[in-house]
Amino acid sequence: MAVNEQEVELIVKQILGQLSGGQGSTYSAPASTAGGPIPSVAHVAMLTSLENFEVKEFPMPSVGDDDILVKVEGCGVCGTDAHEFKRDPFSLIPVALGHEGTGEIVKMGKNVKKDSAGKDLHLGDKVVTCMIFKDDPEITMFDLNKQNVGDADVYGLLPDDDVHLNGWFSDYILIRGGSTVFNVSDLDLDSRILIEPCAVLVHAVERAKTTGILRFNSRVVVQGCGPIGLICIAVLRTLGIQNITAVDGNEQRLAFAKRMGADKTVSFKDHNGIEALTEAVKQSFDGHLADFAFQCTGNPNAHSNIYKFIRNGGGLCELGFFVNGGDATINPHFDLCSKEITLVGSWVYTLRDYATTFDFLRRAKGIGLPMSELITHRFRLNDINEALKTNLAMTGLKIAVVDNINV
Ligand SMILES: [Zn+2]
Repeated sequence: MAVNEQEVELIVKQILGQLSGGQGSTYSAPASTAGGPIPSVAHVAMLTSLENFEVKEFPMPSVGDDDILVKVEGCGVCGTDAHEFKRDPFSLIPVALGHEGTGEIVKMGKNVKKDSAGKDLHLGDKVVTCMIFKDDPEITMFDLNKQNVGDADVYGLLPDDDVHLNGWFSDYILIRGGSTVFNVSDLDLDSRILIEPCAVLVHAVERAKTTGILRFNSRVVVQGCGPIGLICIAVLRTLGIQNITAVDGNEQRLAFAKRMGADKTVSFKDHNGIEALTEAVKQSFDGHLADFAFQCTGNPNAHSNIYKFIRNGGGLCELGFFVNGGDATINPHFDLCSKEITLVGSWVYTLRDYATTFDFLRRAKGIGLPMSELITHRFRLNDINEALKTNLAMTGLKIAVVDNINV
């Protein structure tokens, strides 16, 4: 439906353009270029059936007055991509996926002057797109889902159309006028690939701060040391919070948590039952319970347990259930009421958090956190099916598709 509307709009614009001698036409404007000759074809990984990407060739599209042509350098694989790859829950096939991408501007229309934050855009600048609309900085993913995704310029989730360059799993992407785009030229490639997952944590910590409980000297538990928990620790560390205990069952991940800024680690495998585990968390804080806890796993039992780690009057941010992971049982009297716990939930991010994330990544690098090591696997575009399968196997942390760098 949305694609048809777009097609109609393009045809109308073209006709209007011809009538007015080129003014207002999407396709007739001369665009400036950089970075050497632009090939006549682009390569796009198109999900054509379940668990099957085909790298297809499409003619390089014309760049309209408001459009930006970007040469892709890399794109992270997100849980959403894996979900779509395995199940196609939104019935988007055929679809070009990849939304955690970044690359270099090689051509742009004459009307393109600034990014969504008001920063100048030039040929050669490195950019990212964002799933959130620029015209409403307070909009969250929840609001976005209520609208037609096809109209939202959500690259990597747009249904296929006659341009085809709609996802970051590609060597070129056409960013249409009106899309949310940021100039992030001062960040290295790995940092740029990590922007989207990091924004989720910047948002969660912002939510946590609304409780008024999280402070510099707080004792903080981060439960779950997958990419989300590890980045959570890094965001807290860049804010100056040092008294962090990481809880997980995987020794390797706990070791990484320490390098990301956790002061102590507790493996739930070393402690039998919630009482022993709570005691271990308490020991890590010299006999105190946590002032604040972040729940970063998608396991309902982990949600039930985490209340035990928090002191009376403490706070909890639940951000592990990005998708429905089922019901969790708590005792409202003991866990919530009598302890007077302040609970916040967190999901996705706002546009403001996205811009804050650029600063976080600069600070994380500045204090020497090993952010790049979060990217454990790098695949070339031709091996994209392997990349998605590696994500589904959950053997690594962040999986990335990179085409234009030597790895
Ligand atoms: Zn994502």
